[in-house]
Amino acid sequence: PPAPATAVRDAFLSFFRDRHGHRLVPSASVRPRGDPSLLFVNAGMNQFKPIFLGTVDPRSEMAGFRRVANSQKCVRAGGRHNDLEDVGRDLSHHTFFEMLGSWAFGGEYFKKEACSMAWELLTQVYGIPEDRLWVSYFGGDPKARLDPDLETRDIWLSLGVPASRVLSLGPQENFWEMGDTGPCGPCTEIHYDLAGGTGAPQLVELWNLVFMQHNRETDGSLQPLPQRHVDTGMGLERLVAVLQGRRSTYDTDLFSPLLNAIHQGCGAPPYLGRVGAADEGRVDTAYRVVADHIRMLSVCIADGVSPGMSGAPLVLRRILRRAVRFATEILRAPPGFLGSLVPVVVETLGDIYPELQKNSAQIASLVSDDEAAFLASLQRGRQIIDRTLRRLGPSDMFPAEVAWSLSLSGHLGLPLDLVELMLEEKGVQLDSAGLERLAREEAQHRAQQAEPARKQGMRLDVHALGELRRQGVPLTDDSPKYNYFL
Ligand code: ATP
Ligand code: MG
Ligand code: MG
Ligand code: MG
Repeated sequence: PPAPATAVRDAFLSFFRDRHGHRLVPSASVRPRGDPSLLFVNAGMNQFKPIFLGTVDPRSEMAGFRRVANSQKCVRAGGRHNDLEDVGRDLSHHTFFEMLGSWAFGGEYFKKEACSMAWELLTQVYGIPEDRLWVSYFGGDPKARLDPDLETRDIWLSLGVPASRVLSLGPQENFWEMGDTGPCGPCTEIHYDLAGGTGAPQLVELWNLVFMQHNRETDGSLQPLPQRHVDTGMGLERLVAVLQGRRSTYDTDLFSPLLNAIHQGCGAPPYLGRVGAADEGRVDTAYRVVADHIRMLSVCIADGVSPGMSGAPLVLRRILRRAVRFATEILRAPPGFLGSLVPVVVETLGDIYPELQKNSAQIASLVSDDEAAFLASLQRGRQIIDRTLRRLGPSDMFPAEVAWSLSLSGHLGLPLDLVELMLEEKGVQLDSAGLERLAREEAQHRAQQAEPARKQGMRLDVHALGELRRQGVPLTDDSPKYNYFL
């Protein structure tokens, strides 16, 4: 039988500790400590940023780090790394995932050793057939005057990877950056071919090996780091899927307990793993969204980020509401359902991340409270809409002021795109020109105020924010980019 996820994770950590002398360190919290450039921890390397920048306190434990490995809780739902739009739609991107990482600091070892260790682990320890693996290296970036990383290409060839499975990729793919600023460098990636020699390859990226050499400054320029470092990260969920012979991260023991619990708790048809147009009524998408989001919510709340009004808490709140809508409207979940999934998350992740176990009850009640508040707002919003409709003539548009006021946080805080959806369901048209005028007025009002928007907390909805951006109103980057009610 295929190894369970726990064994896969353990094998990674013991490989680096026992065979290659790495010291194991715990996952950092998903809440970035003292780094305003990040909304959430998005990679294993985040906690080591001071080492890369050469600013680590020489008295700290970290100053002695040379070879390190861990399993890091990562969230990609805001800022530079934001995968939210793909979550539920595809079978490999999550808002929360675990990144198995290894590091060699300050030139302890570099490209050759990093590539051969990765190859050894994948092919010898995990036993992945070599001919299913492809690699890519940085093909250079003339605009930034960065040369192709031919050294890495030659390392792969010398390890026996045939040239036909060595790809050159551009800066979008193979120049890794932590955020708009921060440590960065060329990288090389290992991909797995799901098709397995039959027809065109279907590559899913497994592991990224970054060779940290630069820092991206606020003016956009690249400055050399004081030393060179190896920084690698592999998605546990994808690795487990490969090792369990699955095409989808959801068809692994990391997700199946959740999918089962959703099936049992909602009475929806069983999960069939369909995507795109084949997923009739978006049932399977809803399963994936709910399973993904409850993991993200649980992990974040365990680390002390709870749903709120701005920055990371606002992202959490929107993700919670997105999960509630998919659960109630598509899967017909009963009220309070989301909170009931928290123990299932704790069951699958609590051993490795004990903070989940410790805070289990508190997480569940926070989720339930926010779910209840949202359902109540929805109901109240529907009442207000109905009342407004009763005083409208048959050809009147829905007044922009009412829609706007429903969206204000001091009132119901229903996102405008959601209000629009609710009106659409009633077959009424919203006065969108009026809404745009309101957004403009609000924008002017804000622009006139000396205080940046961030200080006051984000009160506006994504639509309004998009509008403000289009008008060139300066906004901080801690507002969600996407329409959360797709
Ligand atoms: P992709 O191209 O698939 O979006 P990436 O290049 O953005 O991945 P990296 O920043 O290189 O990802 O992160 C290292 C590894 O973490 C990836 O190789 C992948 O295995 C995993 N990973 C990245 N993003 C996600 C995600 N949203 N969900 C699950 N695993 C992920
Ligand atoms: Mg990505
Ligand atoms: Mg990639
Ligand atoms: Mg990558």
